[in-house]
Amino acid sequence: MTSTSAAQPARPPLRVTVWHEHVHDVTKDDVKALYPDGMHAAMKSAIEACFDPAAGRYDTVEVRTALLEEPEHGLTDAVLDDTDVLTWWGHCAHDKVDDAVAQKVIDRVRGGMGLVVLHSGHHSKPFRGLMGTTANLAWRVGAEKERLWILRPGHPLVNGLPGTHIDIPVAEMYGEPFDVPDPDELVLVSWFEGGEVFRSGCVWHRGAGRIVFLRPGHETYPIYHQPEIRQLLANAVQVAAPVAAAQRGGVYRAECPHSEVPWRAIGD
Ligand code: ZN
Repeated sequence: MTSTSAAQPARPPLRVTVWHEHVHDVTKDDVKALYPDGMHAAMKSAIEACFDPAAGRYDTVEVRTALLEEPEHGLTDAVLDDTDVLTWWGHCAHDKVDDAVAQKVIDRVRGGMGLVVLHSGHHSKPFRGLMGTTANLAWRVGAEKERLWILRPGHPLVNGLPGTHIDIPVAEMYGEPFDVPDPDELVLVSWFEGGEVFRSGCVWHRGAGRIVFLRPGHETYPIYHQPEIRQLLANAVQVAAPVAAAQRGGVYRAECPHSEVPWRAIGD
């Protein structure tokens, strides 16, 4: 029996740029040992391996990396034009990020580009700019256990993660209060062995764009090699992805136009 139906036209791939400051994994031997090709390589492989076409609006994913050390930190207009979702990991070099590049990222997110902010990226210029707050939190490197509780089973951020929680055997502690606006969606809350709790999986909408904050990812622990965290990272990219690349910026007003629509009483 043969089918007469024509094949569906392929949908465009989800284009992801993994941005990394790339300092610790060059300067610190313990980080280098965990991530010999850089943390960005581990993140890229996680997104490629764990991307689930059944979970989103894209059949395939294309991942590139961009580093602080590159011209314009690897975030040229050409790269951003070709990016649906940007992921961001930074820690010790937030102040080395050029203000103009950070502002460009903020504007792109408002125009519809997705942004996934990872771990110590909470203090990055783009995240603070989009939140409008300090994004301060409490922290402790105590090599303690973390349990991430899933608050919203069935949310796309936890796609493919069975059970009620994820355990990270050895983690850095982040504690509340986390100085951010209340998230539009709160999906994960962490508990730490020391007793603290933290909002670890959050989603915000800004303009036409979506921002996901994902807490796990301290550089001296093998967290981006843990299967559940790799899946979370790929899921976060899917959650932040624009509905369709063609819609980016379609509904977002970068300025405040005077309405040319004449006033009429309701019902006229
Ligand atoms: Zn850390």
